[in-house]
Amino acid sequence: MNYNFYDTPIEYLKGVGPKRAELLKKELKVYTFGDLLQYYPFRYIDRSRFFFISEINNDSLYIQLKGKISSVNLLGQGKTSRLVATLVDDTGSIDLVWFQGIKWVKDKIIKGEEYVVFGKPVLFNGFYNIPHPELEKLIDYQKEEEKEALYPFYYSTEKLKAIGLNSRGIAKIMKNLISLSKGLIYETLNDEIIEKFRFLSLEATLLNIHFPLSNELLKKSIYRIKFEELLFLQLSLIQSKKARIDKSVGIQFSKVGDIFNNFFRTKLPFSLTEAQKKVIREIRADLGSGKQMNRLLQGDVGSGKTLVALMSSMIAIDNGYQACIMVPTEILAYQHFNVIKKLIDDLPVDVQILTGSTKLSVRKKILSDLESGVLKILIGTHALIEDNVVFNNLGLVIIDEQHRFGVEQRARLWQKNHITPHILVMTATPIPRTLAMTLYGDLDVSIIDELPPGRKPVKTYHFYDSSRLKVFNFIKTQIKEGRQVYVVYPIINESETLDLKDLMDGYNSISREFPLPLYAISIVHGKMKPQDKEYEMLRFIKGETQIMVSTTVIEVGVDVPNATVMIIENAERFGLSQLHQLRGRVGRGAEQSFCILMTSTKLTNEGKKRIETMVRTNDGFEIAEADLKLRGPGDLQGTQQSGIIDLKLADIIKDEVLIKLSRDVAIEIINNDPYLESEKNRKLSEHLNFMKMKKGKWEKIS
Ligand code: ADP
Ligand code: MG
Repeated sequence: MNYNFYDTPIEYLKGVGPKRAELLKKELKVYTFGDLLQYYPFRYIDRSRFFFISEINNDSLYIQLKGKISSVNLLGQGKTSRLVATLVDDTGSIDLVWFQGIKWVKDKIIKGEEYVVFGKPVLFNGFYNIPHPELEKLIDYQKEEEKEALYPFYYSTEKLKAIGLNSRGIAKIMKNLISLSKGLIYETLNDEIIEKFRFLSLEATLLNIHFPLSNELLKKSIYRIKFEELLFLQLSLIQSKKARIDKSVGIQFSKVGDIFNNFFRTKLPFSLTEAQKKVIREIRADLGSGKQMNRLLQGDVGSGKTLVALMSSMIAIDNGYQACIMVPTEILAYQHFNVIKKLIDDLPVDVQILTGSTKLSVRKKILSDLESGVLKILIGTHALIEDNVVFNNLGLVIIDEQHRFGVEQRARLWQKNHITPHILVMTATPIPRTLAMTLYGDLDVSIIDELPPGRKPVKTYHFYDSSRLKVFNFIKTQIKEGRQVYVVYPIINESETLDLKDLMDGYNSISREFPLPLYAISIVHGKMKPQDKEYEMLRFIKGETQIMVSTTVIEVGVDVPNATVMIIENAERFGLSQLHQLRGRVGRGAEQSFCILMTSTKLTNEGKKRIETMVRTNDGFEIAEADLKLRGPGDLQGTQQSGIIDLKLADIIKDEVLIKLSRDVAIEIINNDPYLESEKNRKLSEHLNFMKMKKGKWEKIS
């Protein structure tokens, strides 16, 4: 297959010189002909409709008029000079105005001639005019054979507009490209697929997505492009998963030994939930298979993932290997460390913790024990990925709250053993199914869909700031009953003193309302030294303080079952998933817990919806869906750029049906022909390779 056309640098296109090329690359990431072909319009204007001049009003966007030019005049001088032509139809007249290219237009425009005019009316000094409209003689317009019914609009940027590449300028060079591309666009899909789904050819698709000949053809084009984007995405995900399973050599943990069994029989303080049992079985099967495990464990906050992590680590240890658990914050690391140490009790398993603030002497000992293999479980923060952290034989890597780590950081842990260790990533951020299919299509997924028994759902209320006294009184009754309380403030940016001031003001007013010696308050925020944070946290965990005033540093994983009230200040400033995470800090014990969302009375619509959603439901998946709908997928880390394919038209939320369809098609193809070697799949394989290559190249450039 010949991809030369696609790969031709954009500067070779008529209408694109070096200057425009440079900006197209910089501003739109359009490097080649292929990139420009995939720079799709974001909306279209119906060009079969003509407006009357008398119909123009404040709501008029881009419109098309038909009429005669009655006069052409050069007005003003210097900076204010402009060309004004008056267009007349049966209903009235309107001025067409040019500020640039005046001479060129003046020579071309003919008084008394009938024109089709296309542009956007603006109101100036009480009259409408159309700046820089597009003009075409009516007789030429009528002669045109293939007349696009819909006119494309392209996103542009200020810099591009300054060099003539506004939406219309882009349409112009696109037109050049489309006419140049005739006969040079190769099919990317199999005949079989094209027939089965009655797709347009790729050439017709690209023509109609940019310059639709009809609404019908536009719809068909969009459908094909969306399907194609998703199909290649799924093909690459499923292929890499299959390749990993087929080819990978994993460390085989063939047995479950004394540590696991002793723990299970004598240390486990409660019985496992059915969901925990199921997940541990899935993990055991992976670990024993001889292939490398790559599993995502999803479970709502409080569903008991830590225990699963610990028991999985024990399987590694029973087979003579080490395990490590990486978490995003120091507090969480200590929390895990303490919980796990307590669970392990007197079993002969050496567990240590390593963070950025581990003292040098302690660090030295940990590193040498790690290298000799004495140390079995290492818990820590990013400090774990540093080069001087060398394992004796790392068999299992567990990453908690995985969304907090970059791909690169995670990958550095994989490399800490000569055979890639088994990998378990855990997340409490529920991911809707379709999103999981695209984001984690190459992972196996386990779900803990059940909370330990006896948990009462947290009751959630919304209060305005004016009801603060009521809230304080409520806190007092809870503390009287022996409970503890979190008060959380948003810190949008840790460096911003303003946010910190909110927190300190809040702390001061709470200190006044809850004075010593009756009450004791902890405070934790990101600007504190790790030891101080740790100290304050510990006081709260031990119950020495009743109120914890903090920023979102406590968001992940902190576990104080006696805390029953979560007060979130300025709740409207938090995202939904963050609110849900915070709420998950309470409701961990047997007592009824409460989440109180404090807001000002000035709420945006979106803020209101977030609060309503939180009050309505405790279901993490429902909240995740709502979150996605409110924010759109663009916000989610790299979702539109999952794997090798940048989704341009397909939308991971709205195109759920197409995602399922494309996934099914991809699975069938890969099952029959895992490496796309058959002649039948040649086009698919060539296109997939082309995209992988291109992606590599692109990543180098940017
Ligand atoms: P998360 O999934 O949010 O990481 P944790 O692992 O922190 O949840 O568990 C939350 C709490 O539930 C902990 O206090 C833990 O001891 C407890 N827990 C875990 N599994 C069970 C179980 N099967 N029965 C009762 N309590 C459990
Ligand atoms: Mg956890």
